[in-house]
Amino acid sequence: MELRLYDTLTKEKRVFTPLDPKRVRMYVCGPTVYDFAHIGNARPVIVFDVLYRLLRHLYGAPHVKYVRNITDVDDKINARAAERGIPIRELTEETYKNFKADVAALGCLPPDVEPRATEHIEEMKILIEKLVADKHAYVAEEHVLFSVPSMKDYGQLSKRPLDEMIAGARVDVAPYKKDPMDFVLWKPSKNGEPSWPSPSGIETPGRPGWHIECSAMSWKHLGETFDIHGGGIDLVFPHHENEIAQTRCAFHTGVMANTWMHNGFLQVEGEKMAKSTGNFVTIHELLQDWPGEVLRFNMLRTHYRQPIDWTIKGLEESFSTLRSLTDLPGFETDVEQDFAPAVLDALADDLNTPKAIAELHGLHQRQDHAALASTLRALGFSKRPESKRSVDKQKVENLIATRLDARKAKNWAESDRIRDELAAMGVVLKDSKDGTTWEVTR
Ligand code: AMP
Ligand code: ZN
Repeated sequence: MELRLYDTLTKEKRVFTPLDPKRVRMYVCGPTVYDFAHIGNARPVIVFDVLYRLLRHLYGAPHVKYVRNITDVDDKINARAAERGIPIRELTEETYKNFKADVAALGCLPPDVEPRATEHIEEMKILIEKLVADKHAYVAEEHVLFSVPSMKDYGQLSKRPLDEMIAGARVDVAPYKKDPMDFVLWKPSKNGEPSWPSPSGIETPGRPGWHIECSAMSWKHLGETFDIHGGGIDLVFPHHENEIAQTRCAFHTGVMANTWMHNGFLQVEGEKMAKSTGNFVTIHELLQDWPGEVLRFNMLRTHYRQPIDWTIKGLEESFSTLRSLTDLPGFETDVEQDFAPAVLDALADDLNTPKAIAELHGLHQRQDHAALASTLRALGFSKRPESKRSVDKQKVENLIATRLDARKAKNWAESDRIRDELAAMGVVLKDSKDGTTWEVTR
């Protein structure tokens, strides 16, 4: 079995060969904890959960280490805590707890380590000191900046022209920067902001820049070089580009991670999802209306590198498909997990989940119930989705009776109207020669 993964750095699908098959190591950039995560944030969590499950299957669970960090020091966090008048730690604890509950409801396994940025300040300072000592970084006006021109092959991951990089980085052209591309490793804290004793002889207490935290946490938990680094496509530049620069220059290595994987973006009803425009929906809100399994299934119907359009219609389809796939004897009570060979082949081809789902349908058609059930479980589906809507059964039965009368009287317009009314309640009718049955489809 060959696992092939698309690598953003080399821009090709390559056979995945771990540095050490007894210690397969993956790092994924996690949430910034200041508010409920939106459904776009759930995409990397679900995608890399599927990869984690696949790696555990291929190499054995004890031989895979998955690290997903928690960014708990950030301007947005400071601002939100001040707005709510609560301590920063209270805000980050609460948000992190909500995040864990949300992603557990989506069927995601917890990573092996979930390191917090604020608990790795010492490691960040060690990296910063190393970079300054080797002239890859310099101190200016109480900041420490990474010197981009000091790294000959900076920019390999995003491969953008320099002017685009400058625009993309939204670089503030601070007077103390030697080069406009240079980025912050450490900065002074203002009054009331979290602060730590600064590195490199800077007297004012300060706090780390964003990128350095992932270099520090991946080093601490996975080493100088590891196998897979993942996140959303928006992180390629500047975040991952800068992580690579910091880690490689600190350790004088040729690579930080051997495979760089990025999920495409999630849009809502055809429009870009963004917190700034208010066009977003949280996982928490969606879980009020939809079972977590349906949200997970809906995410996996699209290949992870493609953009995904998140729609109510798509969720309804996912609900009814997953209902029919999981209509299996003993599905929720048995525990056996294994990937059917055709599903494994699909996943081994750069996590082709739409193909894997097509193979699930094949098992369903061939009534291979045992294989279907254990494969669904291996993919993280352990429950048959139940509608979260409370439907008034009596009302439904009455409407169906009225519709039957209308049909007997050949009043097709009225019959259709009632069907639509029921559909709006999430109730779908199935007419057959034995009568009309109904099902809640969402
Ligand atoms: P953030 O908390 O914004 O740093 O994002 C956490 C993770 O979610 C990162 O891997 C982002 O790339 C990813 N992400 C954010 N928004 C979206 C989106 N709309 N679609 C897919 N992934 C996203
Ligand atoms: Zn990161």
